[in-house]
Amino acid sequence: MKFLLLLSALVAAILAEKTFSGEQVLRIKPVNHDQRNQIVALEALTHLKLDFWTEPNKAEIPVDVRVPFESLQSVKIYLESNNIEYSIMIKDLQNVINTEKEEMEISEQKHRNSGSFNYGAYYNLDNLYQAIDNIVLDYKSLVSKQQIGTSYEGRPINVLKFSTGAGRPAIWVDAGIHSREWVTQATALWTAHKLASDYGKDSSVTSLLNLYDVYLLIVTNPDGYAYSHTKDRMWRKTRSIVPGSRCVGVDPNRNWNAGFGGPGASTDPCSDSYRGPSAESEVEVKTIANFIRGHGKFKGFISIHSYSQLLLFPYGYKCTNPAHFTELNNVGKAAASALSSLYGTKYKVGTICSTIYQASGGSIDWTYDIGIKYSFAFELRDTGRYGFLLPANQIVPTAQETWLGLKEILEHIRDNPY
Ligand SMILES: [Zn+2]
Repeated sequence: MKFLLLLSALVAAILAEKTFSGEQVLRIKPVNHDQRNQIVALEALTHLKLDFWTEPNKAEIPVDVRVPFESLQSVKIYLESNNIEYSIMIKDLQNVINTEKEEMEISEQKHRNSGSFNYGAYYNLDNLYQAIDNIVLDYKSLVSKQQIGTSYEGRPINVLKFSTGAGRPAIWVDAGIHSREWVTQATALWTAHKLASDYGKDSSVTSLLNLYDVYLLIVTNPDGYAYSHTKDRMWRKTRSIVPGSRCVGVDPNRNWNAGFGGPGASTDPCSDSYRGPSAESEVEVKTIANFIRGHGKFKGFISIHSYSQLLLFPYGYKCTNPAHFTELNNVGKAAASALSSLYGTKYKVGTICSTIYQASGGSIDWTYDIGIKYSFAFELRDTGRYGFLLPANQIVPTAQETWLGLKEILEHIRDNPY
């Protein structure tokens, strides 16, 4: 009996969803190089189990860090004793997660009752995949679903292909390579509907799709996305087993064959930026890389992340400017200004290395290096008030403004064939 009780407690613990009660997100404001170094030293104290939402080593961006309840006191004492200024951005992370969950339930209820689809809500993987299927059904002549691979845990990796003719050059857009960045999958879903419904009505979309195919991968990391809904809202990586480690998963945006193993990626399987055992070790990454290589006519590659409100281009793995720096910078600035025209949301534009940090193994560096000149990454809203937990009522405004930026890039690609 005792054994059974113990067993059932163990099973419950395994099935349970991770909670974040009492966890806080602190915004740290280092004022000089010394203080930044002290924060880097804090990051190295792995026993504190800190989750850096932004990197500590860039002056321009404040450092946001999620601190488990049991580490709060030590971290605050450390900061105060070093005279490093900080504020509490999220007072109790679980409260924000609970609100998000309640909103999802209300929205699902409404959907069941009315039958109409609400783009201003977060959906679990099944519901998101259903919504994708519905777009394909509604716009059969333009949109098709193509399974390009299978995730580590066996889920389909489905890309939407928008096409009006055979043999066209193509543009790739993906979202959600980091699973906890929920506003990205939601924005990509909205964008799929926008592209589909605007074809034949909007001259920009129509002329683009008369010349190019667009491939849109809404859930790049389906295992991580499912896990972020059922087990750990803060899950970022893939869910692959790392041989010899108790920790699971690889950062799929440190796993591409571009400066793989260089600075800005971790060799520690327990780190959230673990690069993996080798380039393209993650099936999700290999699937896309194979697809891009096999297709051979991609002219643009845009990857959507959150948060920080940035529009980035290569390089990340090195701090030298790409050959097309001036053009990419100009297109990026034009896109950011188009984006900003709707709600005034401000974006910074630049190379990954100059804008955030040196990071190796990223997707857009790889695509740029294999000859896809127009390689960009968006970091969507916000600048940290909610971070990865952006309230659902900001999904549609985020998607609408992002679309204006995206469209600027797509138009530039359309008008500058190479
Ligand atoms: Zn990301």
